[in-house]
Amino acid sequence: MTQPNTPGAELPRALTAHGGTRPRVAVVGGSLTGATCALLLLRAGFPVTVYEAAPAAAPRGGGLIGLEHPALDVLDRIGISQDEIIAHPSEMVLEVTVRDRQAIHTARRLYPGRNTTWSLLHHALTRRLPAGVLQPGHRVTGITERGGHPHLLFADDTNTPADLVVFADGRTSTGRRLLDPARQLRYAGYVAHRGHAASQLVAVKNFLRLEPGPGCQYNVAPIPGGLDWTLYLTCSAADYAHCFGAPPQRRAFALPHHVSETARALVDAHAARLLPAPHAATVHTTTVRMAAPVMDIDLPTRMVWPVGAGWAVLVGDALAPVRPHTGRGANNGIEQAAALTVALTQHHRWGADLATALDGWQRRQLDGVVAAVRQGPRLGAHLGTTQI
Ligand SMILES: Cc1cc2nc3c(=O)[nH]c(=O)nc-3n(C[C@H](O)[C@H](O)[C@H](O)COP(=O)(O)OP(=O)(O)OC[C@H]3O[C@@H](n4cnc5c(N)ncnc54)[C@H](O)[C@@H]3O)c2cc1C
Repeated sequence: MTQPNTPGAELPRALTAHGGTRPRVAVVGGSLTGATCALLLLRAGFPVTVYEAAPAAAPRGGGLIGLEHPALDVLDRIGISQDEIIAHPSEMVLEVTVRDRQAIHTARRLYPGRNTTWSLLHHALTRRLPAGVLQPGHRVTGITERGGHPHLLFADDTNTPADLVVFADGRTSTGRRLLDPARQLRYAGYVAHRGHAASQLVAVKNFLRLEPGPGCQYNVAPIPGGLDWTLYLTCSAADYAHCFGAPPQRRAFALPHHVSETARALVDAHAARLLPAPHAATVHTTTVRMAAPVMDIDLPTRMVWPVGAGWAVLVGDALAPVRPHTGRGANNGIEQAAALTVALTQHHRWGADLATALDGWQRRQLDGVVAAVRQGPRLGAHLGTTQI
């Protein structure tokens, strides 16, 4: 059954003065990449609907995210100022070598960007989406061609047409599985354990990275109302399943309710053995915890697929989830969304050939993504958490 009230479905797709059209865009996934893409495309005049699998009432949240200047600038252009999303204005990163639970050396450097959190940014993005654009509780299961156009298929057996489908559906993307099925995700053998500490047992004013030795890294930074920390620890796939209830490929994010007592005890024991006492105490007193298994993926070679007379594209983690140490996942998604909007605008306003515009977008974006996918294992090897 076609949803009758898909925004934009009824719009005439008349040619503009220069021969361009105004494609109806369906974005799959309403997280950071999808919501940014939707806001940019709406501002450029395209009819957009965002289909998000999570129900409106589902509890969602995430930790610290470093955004570089290009991504911050994109957000600025859609009216999201740093005053709204920046957790703490410091650009300083302190890299501390730790031995026997004592800091023995500190290096300082500046980060070309600032830190936000997933929760701050997601709220800033989604509250700007006009009513009806975000359709929560819509899980996309397939894409097919009908009457020459892409149609999205949903878990409840409904479907909807579009001219361009933007898959921004994250690490375990349905779009990637459908469009580029040969590319596999692989567990890298270690986990980013995360926590939001409600109190500052230790005064942290900058982004602090502690390196206590092979196989472990601890990052901590101030966020509104406390501290955000990440502890990277090696962990077999079997142990991950034991700690979080499912294997890494299936549980690509462990939310607070997935974190077992075994996982808590494991993290607490490592913190007590490896971290200076105030940081160990921060971990021990943290009640809200999450985790993400670190994953690698086969290199992407394309981002665009024709579907009848329309198109489907992969962006953000749906295209390629990169290791968290690269600090590039959200940056990639936001930059790709902005560049996609440029390509579509050139078509709509000036009649640029759409296939060529999308091909140029893909060519310009792929190098950066490939570089970040390749950088992940190198950084992991430096930590001693994995082999290249
Ligand atoms: C520990 C850690 C630290 C990080 N630090 C940084 C950093 O400093 N800088 C940085 O740039 N990045 C960082 N990242 C990466 C960043 O968090 C991700 O790259 C980013 O959140 C991905 O956003 P996304 O919107 O592409 O995907 P996601 O956030 O995964 O969103 C996908 C969305 O699609 C929805 N969805 C899934 N399947 C379907 C479906 N079938 N139908 C409809 N909807 C669907 C999901 O519910 C979800 O809302 C870090 C990641 C981790 C784990």
